[in-house]
Amino acid sequence: MTLPSPLPRDPLTAPLLDAQGRTITYLRLSVTDRCNFRCTYCSPASWGGKKDLLTPGEFERIVSVFARLGIRRVRLTGGEPLIRPDIVEVAQRIAAVPGVERVAITTNASHLERLAVPLREAGVTQLNLSLDTLSEATFRRISKQGDLATILRGIDASVAAGYASLKLNVVVMRGVNDLEVPALIAHAHARGIVPRFIELMPFGQGTPVPTAELVEQIQASGLPLVPEDARHDVTSGPASYWRAPGGLVGFISPLTQNFCGGCNRVRVASNGDLRSCLGGRAQAPLHALIRGGATDTDLALAIRHALGEKPEGHRFTEPGAGTSLLSMMGIGG
Ligand code: SAM
Ligand code: SF4
Repeated sequence: MTLPSPLPRDPLTAPLLDAQGRTITYLRLSVTDRCNFRCTYCSPASWGGKKDLLTPGEFERIVSVFARLGIRRVRLTGGEPLIRPDIVEVAQRIAAVPGVERVAITTNASHLERLAVPLREAGVTQLNLSLDTLSEATFRRISKQGDLATILRGIDASVAAGYASLKLNVVVMRGVNDLEVPALIAHAHARGIVPRFIELMPFGQGTPVPTAELVEQIQASGLPLVPEDARHDVTSGPASYWRAPGGLVGFISPLTQNFCGGCNRVRVASNGDLRSCLGGRAQAPLHALIRGGATDTDLALAIRHALGEKPEGHRFTEPGAGTSLLSMMGIGG
């Protein structure tokens, strides 16, 4: 096992460094592997779902240890985080952990009509809303379940609820939704939302469209795009941003613009396993450790050892990558 440096005298206070010397400040927490949708690019046909999920108190415990190690931002994802009946309590407990500055959620928006305001009041500051199409037929083709009108109302409810930051995540698939990109930009900008287009990663079906080609396609459609000099907000993720007349447009390009060098994140999967990289293997069974009576120091040591093995980067572009990775639903995108 590689460790970044000798273990600090108090493993609960020193900053969290990975094997490459990167400081880790951002935690992505998959709060469930279940989902009310079955997006073609995300869920394997055989996905079963885990019954024994972490409780709100266990999430709070894990986040409080990470916060003592320097984690400042937490994102709740899944599966679909909002299908947990206790999601408002989970969010509220995490937002109240000392040291946590920002709590965000990535959601398919299907439950936001009801939950946008309670989650805002619980302390969630940012929502990333996933929407790949404005066509009902394409929506059914991609998501298999759910109803586009409900999603659009959920998005509007989150706009009305006054979040500090709203982003629209679009996974771009050749021949499926790539020609809708200008319409999705207009839909987002009309609501003050920043649209972001994601290169399809090899977790399911579909053909990716490289970002450079997509930018050319958008410009050819008549929408001027000018690159922003600097990243809009380097702390908020690996997107690169361009400016359109209606606002910013983001591109997340895991395949063609590897951003692993600046990675500041660590993941906890829905089974409670810490995963140091989206493209890596399970490395610390935090849930099992908690249920076995681990102290905070034990958890901090397990986290530090796992981060000592964080790879330099993912391996998505290698042949057969998709078959060797866990489901996106279990890890959280
Ligand atoms: N259910 C929530 C949602 O859909 O927003 C949260 C979980 S989902 C796994 C998180 C993000 O990952 C979504 O924005 C989704 O579009 C994205 N995603 C899922 N599979 C992907 C893939 N194969 N390539 C790129 N992005 C993907
Ligand atoms: Fe569910 Fe989100 Fe995966 Fe779609 S992308 S199947 S909504 S977890």
